[in-house]
Order: sequence, then C-alpha cells, then structure tokens
Amino acid sequence: MKFRELGIIDPILRALEDKGYETPTPIQEEAIPAVLAGRDILGVAQTGTGKTAAFAIPVIQHIHELKQSGGRLRDVSGLIITPTRELAIQIDENIKTYAKYTTVRHTVIFGGVKQHHQVRKLQQGVDILVATPGRLLDLVNQGIIDLSQIKYFVLDEADRMLDMGFINDIKKIIKILPSKRQSLFFSATMPDNIVRLSRDILDRPKRVEVTPASSTAETLEQVIYYTNKATKRNLLVHVLKNPEIQQVLVFSRTKHGADKLVRYLKQKHFAAAAIHGDKAQNQRQKVLKQFKAGQLRVLVATDIASRGIDINQLEHVINYDIPNEPETYVHRIGRSGRAGNSGLAISISEPEENTYVKDIERLIGKRIPVIQDHPYPQTDKPMTAKEKKEWNKEKQRRKQEFFANRKKSRNAGTSRRSR
Ligand code: AMP
Repeated sequence: MKFRELGIIDPILRALEDKGYETPTPIQEEAIPAVLAGRDILGVAQTGTGKTAAFAIPVIQHIHELKQSGGRLRDVSGLIITPTRELAIQIDENIKTYAKYTTVRHTVIFGGVKQHHQVRKLQQGVDILVATPGRLLDLVNQGIIDLSQIKYFVLDEADRMLDMGFINDIKKIIKILPSKRQSLFFSATMPDNIVRLSRDILDRPKRVEVTPASSTAETLEQVIYYTNKATKRNLLVHVLKNPEIQQVLVFSRTKHGADKLVRYLKQKHFAAAAIHGDKAQNQRQKVLKQFKAGQLRVLVATDIASRGIDINQLEHVINYDIPNEPETYVHRIGRSGRAGNSGLAISISEPEENTYVKDIERLIGKRIPVIQDHPYPQTDKPMTAKEKKEWNKEKQRRKQEFFANRKKSRNAGTSRRSR
C-alpha cells in the first residue's frame, strides 16, 4: 500500500517523501481514508504505531482544501489536545513536517512558560492548534482563543489524560466546542471510563484498533534482571557498560529517585540527565534536545515526562523501577522499537517488585526472558505482609522523629536569636 492510494494530496505526499516514509503504518492505512471521508474515529493505539500522522495528515488536508476552495478561516479550525507539553511540542513538529507544502498555519500552547510568545503566535492567525488542556482553558477564559469555529477536534492519549486528572478540563472544553464537528479520539487502553468519555465526544465513529494495548511490538526484545534493592544501581552500571547501548531511556518511578540516580551515574562518569515534572520547561526541552542530538547517553525520566519522548531509533529502554500498573510497562517500552525499528527493553526487578513482573507477564501474555548471568543476583526474599506492615510502621516512626528533631533544632535556633 502506498500513501497515494489513501487519497492524500500532492503537497502532503511530497512532505512524506522528504521525510522518508515509504509505506503507511496499519493505523494510517485504516484511519486516513476514513477521516478524509468525514468519519469520526475511535482509535485504540499506543505510541509508536504512527498514530500522530494518522490524525494529523487528514486534518491538515481537510483544512488545506477548505482554504484552497476559498473558505475564509478567521479562527482556529483544528484543535488537538494532548496531555503533556513534550507530546504537544512533538505533535506540532510533526504537523510542521507534514504541512510544509500546504497553506496550513499551526502552533502549540502549553503551561509552565509565560504566555506572551504563544499569544503573539495566536494573534498572527492559526488554523491548527495543539494544546495541553490547562493552558488552553486559561487562554479561552482570557478571551484570547475562540473555539467556536472548530471543525476538527482530536483528543490524543485519552487514558493518560484521565490518569493525570484532566477529566474536568476535557469536559469543559467539549462543552464549548461546536456540536457540528469531526472528532478523532485516541487512547492506548479502553477501560469503561474512557469508553463513556468517547461516547460523549464521538458520533457513530469508526473503530480503528491496531495493536491491543496489552501487546508489545514484535520487533522489541524484552529481558529482565532480578537483583536486590541495594544492588540495583550497581547492576544498572553493569548493564550500561555494554557498548551496544549507545543511548538509553531509563524509567524511574519518582522525581526524587530520578535525580538521585542521575547524581550516581554522573559520579560513575556517565553523561546522564533527568527529565521530570519538577524541572522547568526550558530545562526539560534543553535536556531532550541534547539527548536527541546524541550528547547525552542516559536520560532518566518519570512516566509523565516520558510520554512525549519520541526519539528516532531509540533502541534501548530500561525499567529501573517496575511499574505497579502493567499497562505502564507497555507504554514505557513502546518508546523503543518504534515504527518497525528493533529495540531492547531491559527491566530490573528488586524482590518487592517481583509481583509486578507477574502482572506484566499476565498482561502481555508471555514470560520475559530472565538474564541469569550477572554479578548481582537476587538473594533477598520479598517481605511478607507482616514484615511490610512493620517496615511501614518503622518508616513512619523515623519520619516523625526526623520532623520532631528538625522542629526542635529550629525552635532552639529562634530562641537563641531572640535572646
Ligand atoms: P507515533 O506513534 O505517532 O508516535 O509515531 C512513531 C514514530 O514513527 C515517529 O517517529 C514517526 O515519525 C514514525 N512514523 C510515523 N509514520 C511512519 C511511516 N509511515 N513510516 C515510517 N515511520 C513513520
């Protein structure tokens, strides 16, 4: 199948050729003709399947044709909502690529930075707007954005959107959109609340499902190392010594854990940096740019920050923490082995996480091959329920003690000063 056979117009075909895309991915093959024919879409697809082009190309085409036929577009007519800033920037970059020979104007808005740059761009005139929900509503409330002329609405990564607590924002946005519009809805998973939300948005949609959310790309190899909590970072260094791992995205459950790990890796002379929600937006972009340019070998990311990361030919992903939600594992490892490239996902499990590995294996329907031959094998046993309870109690006690001591020493400081 060729892109031309999907009904895509020449200016976009040329851009795809420049980009080096030869054949459409399965989701593009199914979704593009349907969207061009005016259908709503319910897309069940994870990242790495080519879903961005699947919704961006037909929306660009519709708007380009509208403008060519003399339609006057005063306000934004295509709106794409996505949960994270990185993802928003990336979608906009994709649109820039695909729309470069068309007359379609586009921009991206997200929070965490001053608004004036974004407002200026909006005032120059925009056809397609890519946005995160918070900043969008903010600018709508200020009267800077008018959504009354929206003809094409895309909700991307709906499940993650709900996980991140954006449900009310989404509902508010839907309320102000015109009811006569074409809507495209994408989600990696389809739990009940997502199905309900999709019903509020879509009108007799075509369901497009490429890979079930539980499946992992065929081209992606997965392995697991079992070790102890105390030896986890040594094992990571051992793994990173493999010269075949040229660049790697390492997942950490917490922001604090990500920073700590980066400090340790730097001590061990690895070019590493962290990306997470506590970092300033320009810092996040700088780090991402360095990583994409190959100046950083290791990028340590939390799940939310990792959502938008699309690095061409990223071959390695490491789960330094095993996620307790098995779907998160599928999302994480979907970062490598994208669009048919080969990839390797390495997981490192400490005893407390062994049960999460079992959940993941149940979801993906296969056992993850275990690497036995390494210097830090797992010898500790997972704690029993009773031990865990005791341990939590002890942790709580230590925390209280720490705060009590801190308070005491602060009080001592003030009374000394007041003397
Ligand atoms: P996505 O699922 O939209 O995040 O896309 C995953 C990756 O596949 C991105 O790096 C895209 O640039 C790339 N891609 C999308 N469509 C194609 C295609 N038809 N051929 C080759 N690569 C593609």
